Amino acid sequence: MRIFAELEPDDFEQIIVINQNRSGLRALIAIHDTTRGPALGGTRLRAYPDDASALADCMRLARAMSYKAALADLKCGGGKAVIMDHAGLKRGEAFEAFGAFVESLGGRFQTGKDLGTTDEDIRAMARQTRYVACNADADYNAALGIREGIKACLAFLYGDDSLAGRRVAIQGLGAVGWTLARLLGEAGAQLMVADLDESKVERARAELGAEAVSPEQICSVECDVFSPCAVGGVINGRTIHQLKAKIIAGSANNVLAEEGLGWKLKELGIAYAPDYLINAGALIAGYNAFLLGKKESRAEVMRIYHRTLELLRMAAEQGLPTNLAADEIARSRLKKDKAHTDLFWPRSRKIWRS
Ligand code: NAD
Repeated sequence: MRIFAELEPDDFEQIIVINQNRSGLRALIAIHDTTRGPALGGTRLRAYPDDASALADCMRLARAMSYKAALADLKCGGGKAVIMDHAGLKRGEAFEAFGAFVESLGGRFQTGKDLGTTDEDIRAMARQTRYVACNADADYNAALGIREGIKACLAFLYGDDSLAGRRVAIQGLGAVGWTLARLLGEAGAQLMVADLDESKVERARAELGAEAVSPEQICSVECDVFSPCAVGGVINGRTIHQLKAKIIAGSANNVLAEEGLGWKLKELGIAYAPDYLINAGALIAGYNAFLLGKKESRAEVMRIYHRTLELLRMAAEQGLPTNLAADEIARSRLKKDKAHTDLFWPRSRKIWRS
């Protein structure tokens, strides 16, 4: 494997490979950039087909965290950890051992929950490190940011950001999608929803008056806004021709299967709110709580509205797709020289709150 060839294209700072036979722990930590502060990013547990896929996933997610933090103007950088799930993993022991490794980094990497990890896993880590936390309001703040992103797109296209009567198609009614549906419903939007889990769709029909749409059709329904809140890669070479929405704004990471699709969306006159710009609500709240000790983040999450509107206007002026304009801003805020003192993070308090 050519390790440095993997790191160079996106200028990764560090990859840490962790192994412990006793607990079956096999983990990777990718630290993409600490120009702005310590690298924040969740710890994911997943059964990967091989080491290379685990590394690729870890690096992709770490880079996205740097971009998200830079665009949200937070004094932190991007990192991510993945733990390989396999038959020999002794879960409690492995997470505790992983916590000890995280502690040894002295705050350079600080982590929390992600796909596949539970509160119990976080508690196991927290027995060994101060640099792990669990943010109870993550889903709400993520959904609030998405709502503001949608409103900014409406303001940009129609000069009126009211959600009343707007038709919004939501793909995925998980932690974020459900909360978003509730927030949009309260603001008077007409909801169309799809999920692989029919019980969630049924609940949205009963409690929110949403219209059920099949998972196959949610990308192509007649609506004002398409909000992907399930998986990445939803806008691809096939679905882009089926879209009827004028706005795409959701929580899923990597909504565009390829960067180049941004040009096509621009050509079609579709306003795309870049995923990592509008789904930063959870990171903003987590950063405030764990690094600054601030309990309240609403006002800062609400700033996603102005950031999105500014980005849409700037991209239009420059004739660029919004995803590429966002990447450019994020990159301009990363990879700066660091002063000696910037390399040492203050020792934080014990940050786990049960
Ligand atoms: P979740 O696992 O709670 O929910 C995902 C939902 O999508 C599930 O209900 C699942 O059944 C549904 N789903 C999966 N594939 C589908 C498909 N093809 N069609 C329709 N429904 C489908 O996840 P979440 O925490 O709500 O996060 C949703 C997305 O937002 C993820 O991509 C996540 O990475 C991203 N995100 C989440 C947060 C957060 O704070 N939770 C923050 C930023 C970004």
